[in-house]
Amino acid sequence: MSKKGFYTKNLHSDRSDNPEHGVLHKPIHPSVAYGYEDARHLAEVFQGKRAGYNYGRQLNPTVTALQNKITTMEDGIASVAFATGMAAIASSLLSLLKAGDHIVSSAFLFGNTNSFFNTLERLGIEVTFVDATEARFVESALQENTRLVFVETIANPVTQIADLQAIGQLCQLKGLIYFVDNTMTSPHLFLPKQVGASLIINSLTKVIGGHGNALGGVVTDTGLYDWSSFENIHQTYRAENTKLWGITQIKKKGLRDMGASMSPEAAHHLAVGSETLPMRMDRACSNAMVLAEFCEQHEKIKCVYYPGLSKHPQHERARQLFKNFGAIFSIDLANDVDCFDVLNKMETIISSSNLGDNRTLAIPVAHTIYYEMGEQRRASMGIADSMIRFSVGIEEIEDLLDDFNKALA
Ligand SMILES: *Cc1c(COP(=O)(O)O)cnc(C)c1O
Repeated sequence: MSKKGFYTKNLHSDRSDNPEHGVLHKPIHPSVAYGYEDARHLAEVFQGKRAGYNYGRQLNPTVTALQNKITTMEDGIASVAFATGMAAIASSLLSLLKAGDHIVSSAFLFGNTNSFFNTLERLGIEVTFVDATEARFVESALQENTRLVFVETIANPVTQIADLQAIGQLCQLKGLIYFVDNTMTSPHLFLPKQVGASLIINSLTKVIGGHGNALGGVVTDTGLYDWSSFENIHQTYRAENTKLWGITQIKKKGLRDMGASMSPEAAHHLAVGSETLPMRMDRACSNAMVLAEFCEQHEKIKCVYYPGLSKHPQHERARQLFKNFGAIFSIDLANDVDCFDVLNKMETIISSSNLGDNRTLAIPVAHTIYYEMGEQRRASMGIADSMIRFSVGIEEIEDLLDDFNKALA
């Protein structure tokens, strides 16, 4: 059914896999273990010769159903789900890299990904941070031992957009794994496969789940990378289909050794949430555009960061690559305006750290999620003390504008 639309494919995906009793939703299967009448079958499942489930840390039917949904959304070949987005990033990279390897990463990164990359450096994996809005900076950071390039689509909180297309071409030319974090755009706005991504990570906690009621993350292999040229694949995972070497190693090493597995209950919440992704995202993007334009005109706001504004440095790139401009925008307040005062005067908009929720959330980033990073690194990322990041939800726009008017009065 690959020709069908985004909604249709997602809504009907559970039914395509022989569901129990004809159910329309994949049920929540809490069982940790699975019994086999013929012990040989159990052995074959362990040996990868027969499809099936052995133990909940590696695989669960409810989680498998969600993985299949994400694979379809991203037009990939296989996905592995984890307990959180960070677990997906950490488990994937720790499965694929070894001491002595080098990676190039965008300097404009989700705070915890940045923190994890510092951990990688302590394990002997070198990381070079570059301004990924231009591919030439990525290129000049490449070394003999570079294995992978990591970028986000729209970076948080300043909304820089990596030169996704050109970096993809560069990675293809150099045989590098191109790892794209699609959380901010989601597969509704953007398919990283179209710019040559090898692996895609989505934090399902954010807009795909959408309701702020479950944590999850998933890594998807697009099938574009030639794993036979990647020397870090263990002999055991070099099976016939070379396309599956990478995702198999992520599944085996990432889930089995590190064990940050997604719960079946979370998988159910996230799957239900994902059914309305396009509707929610379209509305949130349209709200974000109105609010960003409002803020752009306001005297108490010094600067607005939103890819939908024509003065945004990568506005044209966003227009070409993405279906819409996203639901995240940030503002720098004028010098004499206190970000805590503004936030405390808001009624509908909640001071909260999540994003991609149906509710509009706001956070003073320098004092919270980017606090630990220190002043210097914050400055290098363009994060001012007065910056507020908004994750726009699906409320009526009048109510959100009302909040801004009150808070800035
Ligand atoms: C939130 C987020 C993550 C991590 O996801 P969690 O589910 O919170 O672990 C990774 N990347 C980006 C861009 C995010 O916004």
